[in-house]
Amino acid sequence: MGTGQHPTRPSIAIIGAGMAGLTCARHLATLGLRPSVFEKSRGLGGRLATRRAGEGLAFDHGAQYVTVRSAAFGSAMRSAMEAGVADRWRPAPAVASGAGGEDWFVGVPGMNALVKPLAEGSDLRLSREVAAIRRDGDAWRILGPDDDAGEGFDVVVCTAPAPQARKLLALEPEVAAALAGVAMAPCWALMLRFAEPVDPGFDLRRTESEDLAWIARNGSKPGRNPRADCWVVHAGPDWSRRHLELDRDLAAALLIEMLPQAFGLRLPRIEGAVAHRWRYARTTQPLGSSFLAFADNSLFLGGDWCLGARAERAFESGLAIARSLAGA
Ligand SMILES: Cc1cc2nc3c(=O)[nH]c(=O)nc-3n(C[C@H](O)[C@H](O)[C@H](O)COP(=O)(O)OP(=O)(O)OC[C@H]3O[C@@H](n4cnc5c(N)ncnc54)[C@H](O)[C@@H]3O)c2cc1C
Repeated sequence: MGTGQHPTRPSIAIIGAGMAGLTCARHLATLGLRPSVFEKSRGLGGRLATRRAGEGLAFDHGAQYVTVRSAAFGSAMRSAMEAGVADRWRPAPAVASGAGGEDWFVGVPGMNALVKPLAEGSDLRLSREVAAIRRDGDAWRILGPDDDAGEGFDVVVCTAPAPQARKLLALEPEVAAALAGVAMAPCWALMLRFAEPVDPGFDLRRTESEDLAWIARNGSKPGRNPRADCWVVHAGPDWSRRHLELDRDLAAALLIEMLPQAFGLRLPRIEGAVAHRWRYARTTQPLGSSFLAFADNSLFLGGDWCLGARAERAFESGLAIARSLAGA
């Protein structure tokens, strides 16, 4: 391993089971290591999120699709397609949408299917929130919310969004200084089901500058239940910031009020609507390099916030950390 003073097979903790954390974990597992992955949610995927809402109903309420610009991510996407967990999405766009040009890929049956296979070979710790990462001699301790002793690891890779990573490492002034320039914007998402199918003449309406930045028919993605008329709406960053601390029922009600105008028609009754706040949704000011390393390569920080606001950037960050750890 390329970690200076560490044993040839260091114990490794990865915080976060999103694209960055699991890409790193999978690469390390292929090298014969077995990292422990701590994830505060019950499931895998992070912002590549899929929310089940009853029989045959699911919503991708985080990332909507991924694009491929690098050879390494292209190869990962080809493998995912061969394994039947990814496919192309070609929504019918509204005039205002910017769809077209690049291929868009989605997980099948949900966005989180893109990362689930990457957990193979790791020691997964789901529903395990990390409250702090503390120095312990040459190693690190991972502390839970009700756990003062914690568990020790030679190496820690933290892939939480930058503002959260900063809190976990509050006792490390170097970390705070390195992350000071990184900025992330919030996003309120609305998951919505109508009592009858709606046909506004589009599957996707995208207008980044408006209060409702994104409206998409979830069922138009491959491998979804086409009969369930599920829609996902994302508020724009300004609206999301202005309404950040709202109760989620109130946020849902305000978003629903804006829908008739955005759809351009009289809407049927809404059968179910749930809002979700992504406090750190999209990177607006990235770090500018693929990861950060501290303490003689025993602490790594990564995620999409390193290089930019796309899932592919999270993949690149996770892979770069694993390669650095492996000394490749
Ligand atoms: C609304 C929205 C729309 C988006 N649209 C697109 C899009 O269309 N295309 C695109 O490419 N990208 C899109 N993105 C961005 C994309 O989702 C991210 O770039 C990518 O998923 C980030 O992966 P990550 O691994 O860096 O972070 P995350 O996915 O955030 O993973 C970090 C993980 O760490 C866990 N975690 C955090 N703190 C702790 C803790 N204390 N203890 C334990 N676990 C912790 C989190 O639960 C999470 O699972 C969108 C994101 C959002 C929110």
